[in-house]
Amino acid sequence: MSKHKIVESMSINLVEFREIYCNDCKKMLARYNVKYYSEDMIAELIQTIHVVHTRGGHHIKIHKKKSGNS
Ligand SMILES: [Zn+2]
Repeated sequence: MSKHKIVESMSINLVEFREIYCNDCKKMLARYNVKYYSEDMIAELIQTIHVVHTRGGHHIKIHKKKSGNS
C-alpha cells in the first residue's frame, strides 16, 4: 500500500502546463494547468487577457511543459 502512495506523489510532480510566451516581448505571459484549462479555453484567454499582444501583431507561442522538469 505504500507503493500506491509513491505513484500518487509522482503524478502530482508531473503536472503539465501550457506556457503562453510572447516572442516579441521575450517573456512568459502565463502558465495554465492542462488539467483545468483546455486548448479552447487558452485560445479564449489569449483573445481576452493577452489580446494586447496579438492586436499589436506579436507572435504568441504556446509551450507544453511539465512542472517536474524545471
Ligand atoms: Zn507581446
